Amino acid sequence: MPIFTPGRRWQPAYSPFKKEPIGRRTLEFVERIVKGPMFGCRMCGNCLLQETSFICPMECPKGIRNGPCGGSTAEKCYVDETRPCIWYKIYDRSFRMGREEKLLEVLPPLDWDKVGTETWGDVYYQVKKLGTKTVAKGLITRDAVKRTVTWDSIFRPIRQPNWWQGDSEYHPPAYSEPVSELERRLKAGEFVVTAEVAPPMTTSVKKLISNIELVKPYVAAINFTDSPSATPRMSSWACSTLAVQNGAEPVMQIAARDRTRTGLQAEVLGANALGVRNLLCLSGDSMKLAPEPRGRMDIVDIDSIQMLWILRRMRDEGKYLDGRAMKFPPKYFLGAAASPFASEPKFQAIREHKKINAGAQFFQTNLVYDTEHLEIWLNELAKRNVLEKVYILVGITPLKTLKMATYMDDEVPGVNVPKHLLKRLEDAGEGVEEEGIQIALELIDKIKTLQGIHGIHLMAVGWEEIVPRIVTEAGILPDDFVLPAEKTKASVLQ
Ligand code: SF4
Repeated sequence: MPIFTPGRRWQPAYSPFKKEPIGRRTLEFVERIVKGPMFGCRMCGNCLLQETSFICPMECPKGIRNGPCGGSTAEKCYVDETRPCIWYKIYDRSFRMGREEKLLEVLPPLDWDKVGTETWGDVYYQVKKLGTKTVAKGLITRDAVKRTVTWDSIFRPIRQPNWWQGDSEYHPPAYSEPVSELERRLKAGEFVVTAEVAPPMTTSVKKLISNIELVKPYVAAINFTDSPSATPRMSSWACSTLAVQNGAEPVMQIAARDRTRTGLQAEVLGANALGVRNLLCLSGDSMKLAPEPRGRMDIVDIDSIQMLWILRRMRDEGKYLDGRAMKFPPKYFLGAAASPFASEPKFQAIREHKKINAGAQFFQTNLVYDTEHLEIWLNELAKRNVLEKVYILVGITPLKTLKMATYMDDEVPGVNVPKHLLKRLEDAGEGVEEEGIQIALELIDKIKTLQGIHGIHLMAVGWEEIVPRIVTEAGILPDDFVLPAEKTKASVLQ
């Protein structure tokens, strides 16, 4: 067990892809035998220890290098329950050491050309470049600010290569006119509703199109999930394109789990050219939730914050990750997931703050059944002065059965169904479905009154027919709502 990270699981170090010269191999060996026992170093080739309170994050099975996922808890990692969530430990220690603001720096994905090689050589060359005497003076001075500046002048260029240049700053979008209908409505101050429509499991799109037609008049945009629970379905990209062809506004969800950096950039350009304007960047459910046989659980090329950083720069700076310029950059409204109930509200607030800095313009939250806890999370965001920089849509799912509610409470990472709601569903007996709808309506009623909330994200999970009724009864119809010609108000309310 590494000395400086109690509870951390030992994992083997990476090997370099190619044979390195003898000098570098020797240095690599020394670095490995020193940093291995101390930090559980896996020789990722781009050390982040300075930013993570000296806990190596390379144990995270989702490969996340920018903070906890939506399933983080104090007790365990949801992918591997035999170990603690390493990001929970990093956040916890950072707060105890007063280093939490360091967690805001957007850190780069791995450069696989360097993985398995040493970083001490880079440190040596950087010190040489700055001047050994200057560095020595800067590090022994009594002036704490000068010491920090010197320290940063050595390590920052190493952890932030030219192709990345991540920082802890907010980067407002470099455009003013809304690029999508969803953005236009939010900018106009409309309380919006988005709804999830499940992508089909076959090539037939009849049901998909009929669901799109059903919910379209009642919502500002329709989300298409990207193989939730790591279980393949029709791609979000294809569903979003079909939505555009059928006059609906899609939100295309993209899970980092199934993307490489090349695939991500290629896919968003294609989707954008076909009219998709809203993107939701997610890390994605772990392969742990997938049916057998499971794919790799331990490596993800990019995480959701890195996705936001790459996509924002493609749009606002017209650049690919590798620095090539684009003649016609894409236009999109960037979203991300937020998890009010994962880990601790103050930890999650840093994670959401980082997403906003990286490029998130709107959040769709995980499922909310406890508005008091939601308010605590909102207060944490308010303390970080980020509420005016992002639109927040709160995730609501009507609970159809007690079994579904219990499953969500017990099994779905980052979801908490309070006991009194479970009791209400249990007492409802045959009327459980109606009780679930009433609970959803009560939650929306309360959420509508909260400062900093701009809409509702309805996840009806295969129960799309309920969307018109909930939106109508909750009084959150779109500003320009027109009742579909073939329906009467009575039939909608049935
Ligand atoms: S971040 Fe990379 S180099 Fe640093 S300790 Fe972890 S594996 Fe080693």
